Amino acid sequence: MTVRIRSALDTLPAYAPGRSVPGAIKLASNELAFPTLPAVAQAIADAAVHESSGINRYPDNGAARLVTALAALTGAPESHIVTGCGSVALCQQLVQATAEAGDEVLFGWRSFEAYPIVTQITGATAVRVPVTAGHELDLAAMADAITPATRLIFICTPNNPTGTTVRAADLIAFLDRVPEHVLVTIDEAYTEFDDADDSPDGLAEATSRPNVVTLRTLSKAYGLAGLRVGYAVADPAVVTALRKVAIPFALNSLAQAAALAALGARAELAPRWQQVVAERTRVHAALRELGYEVPVSRANFVWLPLRERSAEFAAHSEQHKVIVRAFADASGGVRVSIGAPHENDAFLAAAAAFPR
Ligand code: PMP
Repeated sequence: MTVRIRSALDTLPAYAPGRSVPGAIKLASNELAFPTLPAVAQAIADAAVHESSGINRYPDNGAARLVTALAALTGAPESHIVTGCGSVALCQQLVQATAEAGDEVLFGWRSFEAYPIVTQITGATAVRVPVTAGHELDLAAMADAITPATRLIFICTPNNPTGTTVRAADLIAFLDRVPEHVLVTIDEAYTEFDDADDSPDGLAEATSRPNVVTLRTLSKAYGLAGLRVGYAVADPAVVTALRKVAIPFALNSLAQAAALAALGARAELAPRWQQVVAERTRVHAALRELGYEVPVSRANFVWLPLRERSAEFAAHSEQHKVIVRAFADASGGVRVSIGAPHENDAFLAAAAAFPR
């Protein structure tokens, strides 16, 4: 007899991360292509051997010092902040806290690959609302798709993988249409790269509306993808629920120490973010010059909506020793992270050589 696994998992794919190939340039996971800051490396080393909180001890479950620093950064009260093992864990916790079998979780499509997975894990139903022809989230259609079964909505801005943002006025009009019992998550994983002047203020919405939560991560702009640090800003009632469904001690001591150091190093990080934005602008222009369709991106990646040719493009790029992320289906395309200038050059050379 075989072990009985929940049938909800039968059609569920495991999350497929961007691949690393030895000797190849990895532009597949939207990481920051800069070395670890010395202050961050030092903080990790110090934390490992700290007298009372070294790694022989369990970490601070509430990450109190980090929460204090995040309150200072965001301007949100500490009671509105909760950390998680990457913001993807918080995505899963949000679904667990709000939805069960028969309930609906709504998001644009394409958007972050983990949304349907964390939804299906709980047995809830994923409702995907297609993006517009311009690859933007269709907030009007999303509002129309709300049903009595809707419990949670993900708004990803800038949107992974299309790079587009929603406008502040459109988001406010959308939020005004959402029933108060439905939780709206504004996923701002790439906010530090967003230079649009009409982007929403997710933190202001999360601190003023009890049914809005804003998610942030230190994996992208702060360069801590390997340490798994994310946080949510939300009403205290939502924060309490997120803590209940959290895995105990999910944020380890070294990650907490590194996150504190990284938050303290914003002055050193900001020029890196500016370089990413400048390189993104360059890559975008070069791809347009080559004749590719590329939506304007406000994140640290660009999107090539190559549809049925996506897998072929990724394989071609890999032959040129550049690993990109292909989403090979009807709404598919290729997402390319912005790397160091020489890495972007290698990608552009591959794109130029792709037979079209
Ligand atoms: N949200 C979005 C939109 C993302 O693209 C990602 C990472 N790909 C995450 C959340 C999760 O990031 P992490 O778990 O590393 O914080």
